[in-house]
Amino acid sequence: MGSPVTPDRTPNVVIVVLDTARADFVARVPLEGSGFEGVRTLKRESLQFPRAISPSTWTYPSHASLFTGRYPWENHALLTELAPLSPEIPHLARLLRNGGFRTMALSSNPVVSSWTGLTAPFETARWSQWWHLFLRIAAWAGPTGPNVGDPTRASPKRALPSDLFVIAKRLLLRHPGAASLVSTLISRATGASSLQRDSVDSWIESALRSDIVSTPRETPIFAFVNLMEAHEPYLPSHRVDDEEGRSARLCRQDREAFLADRWTITPREIRSLRAFYRDGIRTSLLRVSTIVQTLMDAGRWNNTIVVLTGDHGQEFCEEGGLFHGTYPGDAQVCVPLWLRVPDGTLSGGVARGAASLIDVLPTVLNMVGSSPPTRCTGRDLRSLADKTRPDPVFSHSEQLPDDDGFRMRYGSQWIGLNRFWVAARTEDRGIVLDTHRGITFRAGRGRPPAAPGRRPDSMPSDEADDLRGTLKPVDQAIRRILNESLPDSTEERLRSWGYF
Ligand SMILES: [Zn+2]
Repeated sequence: MGSPVTPDRTPNVVIVVLDTARADFVARVPLEGSGFEGVRTLKRESLQFPRAISPSTWTYPSHASLFTGRYPWENHALLTELAPLSPEIPHLARLLRNGGFRTMALSSNPVVSSWTGLTAPFETARWSQWWHLFLRIAAWAGPTGPNVGDPTRASPKRALPSDLFVIAKRLLLRHPGAASLVSTLISRATGASSLQRDSVDSWIESALRSDIVSTPRETPIFAFVNLMEAHEPYLPSHRVDDEEGRSARLCRQDREAFLADRWTITPREIRSLRAFYRDGIRTSLLRVSTIVQTLMDAGRWNNTIVVLTGDHGQEFCEEGGLFHGTYPGDAQVCVPLWLRVPDGTLSGGVARGAASLIDVLPTVLNMVGSSPPTRCTGRDLRSLADKTRPDPVFSHSEQLPDDDGFRMRYGSQWIGLNRFWVAARTEDRGIVLDTHRGITFRAGRGRPPAAPGRRPDSMPSDEADDLRGTLKPVDQAIRRILNESLPDSTEERLRSWGYF
């Protein structure tokens, strides 16, 4: 494409996270047709990692690993702790900024913000509010938190008072049609384009464009973008038009009721949710196309490293759960991972080794000519192109904070939910360990499918002893953190971030 790479110029770095996008769904999106030109180019010029695993089943720990090259239990980026990511830990944005990059974060997900410390080291950081997920109104949904010049300033401002927000969110997840109708009517009246109508926050493209254009050509950029169309709630789009999608109906989507056994999901509801989810991923990929086009228009494409990935997957009862944050099986932790290297040496390849989000930081730093920090656990992704990984990749799913609010909310299901899981995977095998009961489940290839609402069958105890052994230090590290800190204000803090 266009002019050749200039090898003596530091490459730009662009990381796009498709929030909640799981690997198998992304791989099946047909990329033909107009609108996908940019994403087709990106795919053609990328090395694909079909065995990429997220270290966690929810946003905060996964992004913390992406930015630091370390596992959540090494970063203390866990639900039970919920302290913002420590500024002591080397962060990709800080390292690149110190190296002369202009750094910018544009996040659909309000968890990826100054509140978690995830965006604090960026020169400019913008993020959305939770209500943008429910009311997709391009004309109203501007970003929060630009804080140019003061990127460490926390800004825990909410769109609604927390109790009102919690009630409104529950109602909308019970009856998502109401949000959908309001979004559609107002968006049509305000003249939004079809892509804008489907986007959670269409401010991202224009903000990114103006950030890039305002940066001098000789200054390399590091742009981080999070897109959230694959995250629930799912609102109908005019594009749900494939076979499964035609019969899709907007249905109840409250995971909390599912977990508390107050809602038994039907096979039809599962089919509908999968169709809407697939459509959400498709919309996010269309937006990736626009981002690629922006880099081309700015004359930066030929010298840009691109990482396209997901922070966790999404489950539709394949392994007994709904959505994410509960079980590190394949549906919740297998994520897409594409690496585009400007010199074209890895174009179109498919990597052999298992990969993890912790590998992104060392890869990027090596490619821009700096060395990764000493306490970085990840590996250079390029080393996995034609080799197996020497160690397993790990992931976890967390227990709920131990307080009365959660106990009341989940009722008799509380005991089952209040446990943490750890998982280890190599290229061809994977296990998930229930750390409270010591029972292991199969993950990865060879896992028998479970009936909706049921966990897979456990494995015989003498199988996969080697993988089980590798999980011991992970289990112990998490237990140490849990014993160290059980703050009183956990629920309050979660609420302030828009959860529950
Ligand atoms: Zn997420």
